Amino acid sequence: MFDEIHEECGVFGAYHVKDAASITYYGLHTLQHRGQEASGIASEKDGKIRVSKGKGLTIDVFTKEKLEQLGGNNAIGHVRYSTAGGQENANIQPIVSRGRRGETAIVHNGQIVNEKELRVELEDAGCIFQGTSDSEIVLHMIQMEEGTLLEKVMKTASRLVGAFSILVMSDDEIIAVRDQKGLRPLSYTKMQDGYVIGSETCAFEVLGLYSHTDVLPGQAVQFKDGIVRSFFYEENVSSNMCAMEYIYFARPDSVIENINVHNFRKETGRLLARKDDVQADLVIGVPDSSLSAAIGYAEESGIPFETGLVKNRFVGRTFIQPTQSQRDRGVRMKLSAIEQVVSGKSVVMIDDSIVRGTTSRRIVRLLKDAGAAQVHVRIASPIITSPCFYGVDTSTKEELIGARMNCDEICSYIEADSLKFMEIEELKAAADGNGLCTACFDGKYCTDLFSYAKVLEA
Ligand code: SF4
Repeated sequence: MFDEIHEECGVFGAYHVKDAASITYYGLHTLQHRGQEASGIASEKDGKIRVSKGKGLTIDVFTKEKLEQLGGNNAIGHVRYSTAGGQENANIQPIVSRGRRGETAIVHNGQIVNEKELRVELEDAGCIFQGTSDSEIVLHMIQMEEGTLLEKVMKTASRLVGAFSILVMSDDEIIAVRDQKGLRPLSYTKMQDGYVIGSETCAFEVLGLYSHTDVLPGQAVQFKDGIVRSFFYEENVSSNMCAMEYIYFARPDSVIENINVHNFRKETGRLLARKDDVQADLVIGVPDSSLSAAIGYAEESGIPFETGLVKNRFVGRTFIQPTQSQRDRGVRMKLSAIEQVVSGKSVVMIDDSIVRGTTSRRIVRLLKDAGAAQVHVRIASPIITSPCFYGVDTSTKEELIGARMNCDEICSYIEADSLKFMEIEELKAAADGNGLCTACFDGKYCTDLFSYAKVLEA
């Protein structure tokens, strides 16, 4: 699918570890695939919260000097894709509040669907907002509750509906909290005398940490006094991990709810091959997220796996393509077909999903221009028919080709020789019993949608 759909954020925190800001920097750098538009770190040093943030990649936002100034033993950080809440600087996280009750910083991955209702309530109570992000709503709610920070976070979390993996930091603790439906991942592990917490486990491995514990749906995990304690703020919980985390967003070296992402994707490829009888010379994957599925397909079908497409890793996300011809050239700048591999061959091209269809059509054309005799497209996910309201930027039905066309029509549109998708039941089988959110494939949302329900009626 190649840059048609974007995860909105990644979070990372370090508690009770030496040079927490630098450790957080490494964690955010490893989570950069979850958001490239802005990056920020808040650290606690001498009882004060310092924050540094800006637009751009983590390596561009932070210098050695900035990290030294941040320092600290506790820190939280964030990488973001800017659609959620808009692009204003005020929406770049961490967001910090300073008041007579002390300082609190917050980072958030996901989207709250009752945010509009909560915002009205808070504005009526006199709250003033700097930006438009739902994270600021959560921070105001925490500030308005009574009790310890843990009590305030738990009371607030129980009123939030939607997807959230949140880290909250005060002058002496960090609290990690996950929504009761378990839509977005969040894990932690021991490091030195403390802990690190992150959206994906790949961020732990870069620090040489190979085991982890998941924050469970409906759970708040408190890191304080050098130890970790966990509490449920909600008893009515269920597991609905975003299927797109496995399919596309997460790094293949991450483990989500005990399943390695690479292995999950390989299994989707195997399942696709098991029901397929296409005659082809080779199997290729659209790099990078579809390569694991392509390997699984090749193993199961016995058709050789080849590298038929090469990705240019140095094309930035901000590459400007205002006209159609520039956009066509844009895909060639991001992706090249290897003529010597595909020319004259019948090719099975594995991709992870189709969103708008325009990118798939360009890649099929790329392969045919390079001489491929046939291009059979196999998609390692079901047809996307419904928008996501849980922190992914497919917010309208109109932009989804699967909401307007059936499989045959999509096949004609992308100019493929044949096209097949996975079934939802196959996807669930790949998850090996783990609960999945599949709302973008079947329109069955696991929460009320509040004002967002109007988008579906439109
Ligand atoms: S609707 Fe789709 S993208 Fe959104 S959380 Fe569910 S599976 Fe993920």
